[in-house]
Order: sequence, then C-alpha cells, then structure tokens
Amino acid sequence: KLENATIKAELGRASWKLFHTMMARFPDKPTHDDSLALKTYIQLFARLYPCGDCARHFQKLLAQFPPQTSSRNAAAGWACHVHNQVNERLEKPLFDCNNLGDFYDCGCGDEDNKGAA
Ligand code: FAD
Repeated sequence: KLENATIKAELGRASWKLFHTMMARFPDKPTHDDSLALKTYIQLFARLYPCGDCARHFQKLLAQFPPQTSSRNAAAGWACHVHNQVNERLEKPLFDCNNLGDFYDCGCGDEDNKGAA
C-alpha cells in the first residue's frame, strides 16, 4: 500500500499529544512501581507504534537516550528532548523545552495526580 504522509503526520500529532500529556500528569514523586510502569509503557509504545519505520527509529533513540522516570520534570524533559531528536531528523523546528509549562493540559479538572500512572 502507498504511504500517505497526511495520515502518518496526523497519527504523529495525536501520539505526541498523548505522550506529552501523560508526562505532564506523571507524579512529581513517583513510587518505584509508577516509574517502572512509565518505563515499560514507553518501551511498548516504541515497539508497537503503528508506523514501522518510525518505531524502528524511535527504538534506537530510546537506546541512546534511556527514558527518565524519576519525577514528572525528568519525564517531561526527557520526552521533550526525544521529540526534538525526531524533529531534528525530520528537519522540523525544535521546541523550547523551557516552555513546556502548562502546554499539555489534560483538561481533566480533577486532583493533580489522580489518574496519572
Ligand atoms: P509534531 O512533531 O507532531 O508535534 C505536534 C506539536 O507538538 C507541535 O505542533 C508542537 O506544538 C509540539 N511539539 C513539537 N516538538 C515538541 C517537543 N520536543 N516537546 C513537546 N512538544 C513538542 N514521521 C515521519 O515521517 N517519520 C518518522 O520516522 C517518524 N517517527 C515518529 C516517531 C514517533 C514516536 C512519533 C510519535 C511520531 C513520528 N513521526 C514520524 C511523526 C512526526 O514526528 C510528526 O508527528 C508529524 O510529522 C507531524 O508533525 P508536526 O509538524 O505537525 O508536529
């Protein structure tokens, strides 16, 4: 089947949105189990990502930049960094990770850490 760049890009935007929003909701002080869950999620995300080529590249990035899951800040900063690595390869503008702030809001309106991890 022919590649459809529009659909592929849409999947990417949706995926990044979920990815970064999960990091923004990850606990500030995660338990060991929280950290392990996020690490496992990221590895499985990289393995099962529907675009095979993307998945292969992303798995290599994870080997080079191991997921940081010791805190919300660490996870969000790491995710921003690896997304920038993908941006660089695709010749897209880099995102200033200092501007993450409240950029990713889940809109859940519940208690800060509820539902995270
Ligand atoms: P996207 O990169 O989708 O970003 C969406 C929005 O997120 C941006 O508009 C910006 O507001 C924000 N953003 C940008 N950078 C960051 C950052 N560093 N941190 C936080 N927020 C940020 N496409 C391919 O063609 N080839 C690939 O190999 C490929 N690999 C991918 C691997 C993964 C794991 C994922 C999730 C996607 C991959 N994609 C790939 C899709 C690609 O990354 C883009 O999602 C797609 O091209 C659409 O790009 P975009 O310009 O709309 O912005």
